[in-house]
Amino acid sequence: MNLILFGAQGSGKGTQSQLLAEHLRLKPCSSGDLLREAIGQGTSLGQEAKPYVERGDLVPDDLIVGLILEQMRDLGDRTGIILDGFPRTIPQAQRLDASVTVLRQRIDAAIYLEVPRQVLLDRLAYRYVCEKAGHVWNLKTHPPRVDRICDFDGSPLIQRSDDTEAKIAHRLDIFFNETIRLIDYYAARGKLVHINGNNAPETVNQHILAALGQLGVLEGAGHPHAQASGQ
Ligand code: ADP
Repeated sequence: MNLILFGAQGSGKGTQSQLLAEHLRLKPCSSGDLLREAIGQGTSLGQEAKPYVERGDLVPDDLIVGLILEQMRDLGDRTGIILDGFPRTIPQAQRLDASVTVLRQRIDAAIYLEVPRQVLLDRLAYRYVCEKAGHVWNLKTHPPRVDRICDFDGSPLIQRSDDTEAKIAHRLDIFFNETIRLIDYYAARGKLVHINGNNAPETVNQHILAALGQLGVLEGAGHPHAQASGQ
């Protein structure tokens, strides 16, 4: 099973991606993490992507599409992939559809996490990530045990360099002007799962699983009630 998760910055995609990946034995794949990794390693792709990411602009489609397809080709022991942050434009969605057909796969559902803009701004203002592994915290709603120290690896919490107020506003504008069009794209293909993301993470996760069940995509997908058939 292959899933897409989309939603504005701060809508909880990362958290839901991890929960679903675990529950459904999918490989989590975050386009933002992949880009930050490439930038950190100084690869040629990373160097090309860096100015876009720093401005909060979308990187050119060619850069990101190649990176994602590479991930889809190597699933390891997972039964599929969950894409978090890709696609973000209609051309990206079209290229993904064309590529999965070639790979003899398909996208089963696209989950949209809807959260009001004011709630997003609130969440993002307090979003911190750990320096070492990028674990995400919220100083207000999901703080670590020790102030600004990651529970998991003890590294200090920092704000992402693109999480300043102005850059957040810019990225939200791109989302609500452009990425939001994916709603119609996937609805037209009968693949849209529209979820209220303004709830506790566990509740959102249950709603997603219930909606995927209704769409009929859970059978044989590593779901505990529908055991994967060994592939
Ligand atoms: P956010 O959702 O908060 O913007 P991400 O970590 O998902 O954070 O993405 C960080 C940056 O990586 C984006 O601002 C953009 O520059 C780039 N990026 C991520 N995914 C894509 C994509 N599908 N297409 C183009 N650029 C992307």
